[in-house]
Amino acid sequence: MGKKYNPYDEMLQVLDRAAEMLNLEEDDYIQLKYPERELKVAIPLRMDDGSIKVFEGYRVQHSGVRGPYKGGMRYHQNVDLDEVKALAAWMSFKCAVVNVPYGGGKGGVTVDPTKLSKGELERLTRKYATLLYPVIGPQVDIPAPDVNTNAEVMGWFMDAYSTLEGHLSPGVVTGKPIEIGGSLGRGEATGRGIMFVTREISKKLNFSLKGAKVAVQGAGNVGGTAAKLLFREGCQVVALSDVSGAIYNEEGLDIEEIIEFLQAERGRLLKDYNTPGLSRISNEELLTLDVDILIPAALENQLTADISKNVRAKVVVEGANGPTTFEGDKVLEDKGVIVVPDILANCGGVIVSYFEWVQNLQSFSWDEERVNNQLEDLIVKGFNDVWNTAQEADTTLRMGAYMVAIGRIVTATKMRGLA
Ligand code: GLU
Repeated sequence: MGKKYNPYDEMLQVLDRAAEMLNLEEDDYIQLKYPERELKVAIPLRMDDGSIKVFEGYRVQHSGVRGPYKGGMRYHQNVDLDEVKALAAWMSFKCAVVNVPYGGGKGGVTVDPTKLSKGELERLTRKYATLLYPVIGPQVDIPAPDVNTNAEVMGWFMDAYSTLEGHLSPGVVTGKPIEIGGSLGRGEATGRGIMFVTREISKKLNFSLKGAKVAVQGAGNVGGTAAKLLFREGCQVVALSDVSGAIYNEEGLDIEEIIEFLQAERGRLLKDYNTPGLSRISNEELLTLDVDILIPAALENQLTADISKNVRAKVVVEGANGPTTFEGDKVLEDKGVIVVPDILANCGGVIVSYFEWVQNLQSFSWDEERVNNQLEDLIVKGFNDVWNTAQEADTTLRMGAYMVAIGRIVTATKMRGLA
C-alpha cells in the first residue's frame, strides 16, 4: 500500500506463488526472475520543423529457453524499463501457455505518438529498428504490434531491417500489412481469441453468451475487436471506453456502428460519437458496472485493490496485459469473481503471429479460414489445459495458467541443462 506500482514486482509475486504451488525449488525457476537481456537505446529524431529530439526506447529479452524471443513493441508516454521487463516476462508465459515455440520479449519507446506526424512516426520507427538490429532477427527476436503500433509501423520496421540485411526479411516482425507478408486474420486475432475464451468460460460456468451483459475498457485493436465479435455472438455490450472516456447504454450499444465510426478517420475518439440513449460514464464506473463480463483491454494497473472491491462483474476476461494488480487479484478471488488471465485470454495475437512467421519462413500463405480455425484449436486447447490444471490444484485460472507456463519453461530449461 502506498508503494509505487511496479509491474515487474507484480510479475515476480505471481511467479513465486505459482512456483510454490508447483513445489519448485528456487533453483528450478530462479532464471525466470531475471530477463536474459535488457537493451536501452536513444533514438534521435529529426522533427518536421528541422529540430532534433531524442526518445528513449527499450527491448527486453526475458527468456529464450523455448524459442526465439517474441513480443510486441509499444509507443506510449509512460513506457519505462520496468514495464517493458514485465511485458517481456508475460510474453514468455503467454507463449508457453499455448505451447507455441517462442520465448518472450518486448519493446517500447517512451513517446506520445499522437503528438508526432506520420513522417516523424516513420522516421522514429526506422531508427528504432536500426538500433535494435544487432539483437533481432527471424531466428532471434521477432517484434509485433502492441499499444499504439500497427501493421503500417511493422511494415516500416521490416523495411529498415531488410535494408540492413540486404534482402527482404519478412520473418523479422509479425503483424505486417498482408501485401508484404502479413497473415490474414492477424489484425483481429487478439480480439477473436478473447471471444473464444469468453465463449469457453461461459460454457464452463453454464451461462449463455446470448444476452450476456458486457463492459469493455479499450476500443482499440484488442477491445474494439473483442467487443465487435462478442456483439456478433449475441452479447449485449453496454459500455465501451477509450482515452477520451466511456460510453454506456443499458439497452446495449451498436458496436458495429461505433467501430465503423472510429475507424473512418485517424484520430477519431468515442467523445466524438453520439446517438440517442447514450450516456457518458467515468472509467471507474465502467469497471464497476453490474455486468456478466468485464473485459479490461487497455493498459496495466486498472483493477487495483480499491477498484476490485467494487467490481460487480461475474467474470473478468483480461484483454490487456497486466490489468489486475496482485492485490486486486486477491480481492477478486475472495469475492469469487472468475478471472480469465491475460497470459491466456489475450494470446490470440501471438498465436496468429506464430502462424504469420511460419508462413513467412515457408513463403506460403494460408487462407483466413485456416488461420481462424487453427487459432481456435490452439487457444481452446490452452484454455482446457489451464482450466484442468486449476481444477486439479483447486486454484484460480491465473494460477492454473502460470502453473502450465512455468512447468513448460522449467522442463525445457532442465532438458537443455546448465553447464
Ligand atoms: N503485443 C501482443 C501481445 O502482447 C502480440 C505479441 C506478438 O504477436 O508477438 O501479446
